[in-house]
Amino acid sequence: MAKKQFKAESKRLLDLMINSIYTHKEIFLRELISNASDAMDKLYYKSLNEGVTGLSRDDFEIRLEADKDARVLRIRDNGIGMTQEELDQNLGVIAKSGSLKFKSENEKNEDIDIIGQFGVGFYSAFMVADHVRVESKAFGAEQAYVWESDGADGYTVRECMKAGHGTEITLHIKNDTEDENYSEFLDTYRLRGLIKRYSDYIRYPIRMEMEKTRVKEGTENEYEHYFELETLNSMVPLWKKNRSEIEKEEYNSFYKEKFFDWQDPLKVIHTSAEGTATYNALLFIPSTAPMDYYSRDFEKGLQLYASGVLIMDKCSDLLPDYFGFVKGLVDSQDLSLNISREMLQHDRQLKLIAGRIEKKISSELKSMLEHDREAYEKLFKNFGLRLKFGMYDNYGVNKDKLKDLVLFMTSSGKMRTLKEYVADMKEDQPHIYYASGETAERIAHLPQTEAVLDRGYEVLYLTDDVDEFALMVLGNYEEKTFKNVSAEDARVQSEEEKAAVEARTEENRVMLEKMQEILKEKVKAVRLSTALKKHPVCITTDGALSMEMEKVLNSMPGAEDKVKAEQILEINADHAVFSTLRRFADDADKLKKYTEVLYSQALLIEGRSIEDPVAYANTVAELLSL
Ligand code: ADP
Repeated sequence: MAKKQFKAESKRLLDLMINSIYTHKEIFLRELISNASDAMDKLYYKSLNEGVTGLSRDDFEIRLEADKDARVLRIRDNGIGMTQEELDQNLGVIAKSGSLKFKSENEKNEDIDIIGQFGVGFYSAFMVADHVRVESKAFGAEQAYVWESDGADGYTVRECMKAGHGTEITLHIKNDTEDENYSEFLDTYRLRGLIKRYSDYIRYPIRMEMEKTRVKEGTENEYEHYFELETLNSMVPLWKKNRSEIEKEEYNSFYKEKFFDWQDPLKVIHTSAEGTATYNALLFIPSTAPMDYYSRDFEKGLQLYASGVLIMDKCSDLLPDYFGFVKGLVDSQDLSLNISREMLQHDRQLKLIAGRIEKKISSELKSMLEHDREAYEKLFKNFGLRLKFGMYDNYGVNKDKLKDLVLFMTSSGKMRTLKEYVADMKEDQPHIYYASGETAERIAHLPQTEAVLDRGYEVLYLTDDVDEFALMVLGNYEEKTFKNVSAEDARVQSEEEKAAVEARTEENRVMLEKMQEILKEKVKAVRLSTALKKHPVCITTDGALSMEMEKVLNSMPGAEDKVKAEQILEINADHAVFSTLRRFADDADKLKKYTEVLYSQALLIEGRSIEDPVAYANTVAELLSL
C-alpha cells in the first residue's frame, strides 16, 4: 500500500519534532492527553445537544498503559473518534497550527522557541516515538481505521478492528541514546508524575495500572507485586471549586505542595472574572521572602493554565515587578493551548487578565492594611522595599498606585502610611518632614530632627536607600510637600528668631567668613543656627540633593562622577564652644583647628565618615591638652 506524504508544512514541523533538541520532550504526554480530553468533550456535548442516550459523563475515561519490554506506551480514550477522512485530514495536515505560522514568520528563530512550552499537538509524539499508530473509530460508525507512521516518510491509513468508539494511540518509544533517556516514558511512576504536573485538572479520569508492593498474606516479611488501577489526576482544580466549600487547610496545603514552601501563606486570594476576560485565579502571599527575592536571580510569575492545562510555569507578564512576591496561578478558557511564548506576550487577553490581577492584588493589600494591620506590617517587612522601588521605578509611572501601600517608620515609633501622617499633621505644619539615616535611633538623635520634633511635628524616619528617591518622585502627598529636616529651608522661624540670628551673625561676621574660608572646599556656607538647642553643630543642605542621597548615589556601581550635596555648617551660637571660638577668632591656627574639628563632628553626627580620622583624633587630642 502506497504511503501518503505529509503536507509540506506538516512535514517541516514533523522534522522539527523528530530532530528536536528541545529538553521538555515530556510535554508530548500533555498534548495527547489534551486531545483525548477534547475528543471526549466533543462527544459529551454532542450527546447533550443531540439527545444521544446512554452516555453520561462518568462513562468517559483516558487509559494509559506502559509496556517496558515492548517499549510501548498507549493512550486510549473513548471520545468521539475519527473517521477515515478525519484521520487523513487531522493527522496529515496541521497547516492551521498557530505555532507553525509563527515559525514561518520568524524563520531565523531557534526551533526551541516554537516548541517552547506550548507544544504543537499530536506531532510532539515524534519527539519520543519512532513509530506512532492511531486506531480510531468515530462515534456511530461501523468501521474503525488505523493511521500509522514512522515519521518523515509519510503515513498510511487502513481499515482495522476496534471494539468501541474512541481513539487509541500506540507509541513505540525510541531507544535510549547517550544523551537521551526515553525509557523514562515507560516508567509508570514517571508517567504519573507527568500527569500530576501537566494534566492534573483534566475533567475526565486518567487511569493506569500501577505496580505496587505489599506484604504477602500469611507472611511477615515476604513481599509480592500486584497491580492496582489508579486515577492519576485530581480532576477538579481547587481554583474552580466554590470558595465557601474550601477549607483554609486545603488552600494552605495546596500552596505548600505546589509552590514548595514549608510555611503557610500569609494571605490567600481566590478570585474569578467573567466577561471581557474570563479566568479563575488563586494567588498567595508568602509569609517570608524567598532567599533570592532581592537578587537578580529571582523570577517572578504566575502559573498559567488554559482550561485546566498548564501551559506556562512562570508567566512573568501576569505580575508587575512590585507585586513579584505573589505566587499562584491563573486559569483562563480564553487562551489557546497551542500558543507560543512570543505570541503570548502580545496577547490582548493576557494583558487584560494581568491588569485585572494587579487591581485585585492592590485592593486586597489595601483591605489587609485596613483590617489586618499586623499581617500587613509583616508583609511590608518582607516585600515593602520592592513596593518603594516600584514608586520610583520607570520615572514614577506607578507611584500613585503604590503611594497608599507604603509604610514608613516615624518618630511616633510606629509604621505609618502617608495618609495617616497627613491626617495627624498639626494645623500650622507646612510640610511632611522626613530624615534619613542608617537606623531610626540614629535619625532620632540628629540635631535637625530634634529641632522639628520640638515643634511637635512627626518625622518620617527613612532608613532604606530608596526611600528618599521614592518621596522625591512622589513630589507631594495630598498637596503636602516633603521636606528633609536637614534642608536649609526646613526651619520654621518666627520673625523675632530671624532678627536675633541676623543680629548675632552681624556681630560675628568676620569670624564666620574666616571659618568659611577654612572650609571652602567642603561647605557652601558657615552660619549661625536657630534650630540647634543642645548640640554645637550640624550640617544642613541646600538644593535638591541631601547628604543621604549623595551617599547612595555615589555608592552605586558606575557612579564615577561623584555628586555632591551643597553643605552648610550650622553653629549653635548659644553653645559654650562658640565662646571658645570667639576667643580664638584672631588666632588663625587655633581657629582653623577648631573649625575643622567641628566640621568633622557634624559629619560624624550625620553618620558619615571623615576623610582623615587620624588627623582628626590628633587635633582633638591637641585641643584637649591645652
Ligand atoms: P490540535 O489539537 O491543536 O487541533 P493536534 O495536531 O493535536 O492539533 O490534533 C489535530 C486534530 O486531530 C485535532 O484537532 C482533532 O480533531 C484530531 N485528534 C487528535 N487527537 C484526537 C483524539 N484522541 N480523538 C479524536 N480526535 C483527535
